[in-house]
Amino acid sequence: ISKDIAASGRTRDIIRKHGFTFKKSLGQNFLIDLNILDQIIAAAELDETRGALEIGPGIGALTERLAKAAGKVTAVEIDNRLLPILKDVLSPYENVEVIHSDILKTDLQQLWQEQFDGCSAVSVVANLPYYVTTPIVMKLLEDRVPLEHIVVMVQKEVAERMTASPGGKEYGSLSIAVQYYCEAKLVCTVPAGSFIPAPNVDSAVIKLTRRNKPAVSVTDEALFFDVVRASFAQRRKTLVNNLSAFAGKERKTELAELLADCGVKPERRAETLSLSEFATVTDAMADKGM
Ligand code: SAM
Repeated sequence: ISKDIAASGRTRDIIRKHGFTFKKSLGQNFLIDLNILDQIIAAAELDETRGALEIGPGIGALTERLAKAAGKVTAVEIDNRLLPILKDVLSPYENVEVIHSDILKTDLQQLWQEQFDGCSAVSVVANLPYYVTTPIVMKLLEDRVPLEHIVVMVQKEVAERMTASPGGKEYGSLSIAVQYYCEAKLVCTVPAGSFIPAPNVDSAVIKLTRRNKPAVSVTDEALFFDVVRASFAQRRKTLVNNLSAFAGKERKTELAELLADCGVKPERRAETLSLSEFATVTDAMADKGM
C-alpha cells in the first residue's frame, strides 16, 4: 500500500519523478501535514452522498483525502503541468474528476449542473492560491451556487479579517461581505513548515457555513455593499465624512441627521458598526434617494 500523497517523502518522490518545478506566481505551496488534512476533512462534514469542489489540487494531497470522504470530487486546476501527475497519483480513485481551468473564469452554475447532479449537498474544500483568495471566495458567494460549507486554507491575516467582529482593526468590508452570506469560524492556524515549499506567511483554515438567508435584510443589496465600501474608504475618517464623500458633500448635514435618526452617532468610525447598523443606515439612505 502506498503512503498518503501528502506524506512528505511521497510528495518529494512525486515531484522528483515528474520533474515538477514550483511556480510561485500560481501560489504553489503543497500541504505535507497529515494532521492539518485531518482537521480540514473533519470540518468539511462530508459523506458518500455529498460532493466536494476543490480549487487548485496541486499534486493531489487534499484531493486524495476528499476522494475517501465524499461521494464525488471535482478539482479545478489552472496549471496544465499538473494534469498528468494528478492522473497518475489519483488513478486509484474513481470518484474524482480533474478539470483544467482557471476557477475565476469558470461558470460555476454550469459546473454544478455537470458535476454535482445527484449530490445531497456540495462544499468547497481547498488550499487556496493566496494571490487570488478574496476574488475566489467572493465569486463563490456572489455566484449563488448551492453550497453548504467553504472550508479553505488562506493567509492568516485574511482569516482574521473574514472572521473579525466589529471594533477591531481586522474588521472591514471583507468581514462584512463574508458574514453577510455565511457564518465564519476559524478551524486552525497552520505553520509555514506544513507546506513544500514553505510560504513566507502563516496560514489558517476557516470554515464558512452558508446562511439560509443573508445575516441582515436590506431593500437594496448593491447599495448596502456600496455603503459599506464607502464607509471604510478612509478608515481614520468618521462615518459621516466617508459617507458624504459617497452621497455628495452638500448632503453632509442631512446625512448626519439621518445617521442620528438611525441611532448611529455620525462621528463613529466604520469599524465600530455591526452588520445590522449598516443595514439600517443603507435603508435610510435608499429612502432619501442617496
Ligand atoms: N491543494 C494542493 C495542496 O494542498 O497541496 C495545492 C495547493 S496550492 C496552495 C494552490 C494550487 O492552486 C496550485 O496547484 C495552483 O496551480 C492552483 N491555482 C492557482 N491559481 C488557480 C486558479 N486561478 N484556478 C485554479 N487553480 C489555481
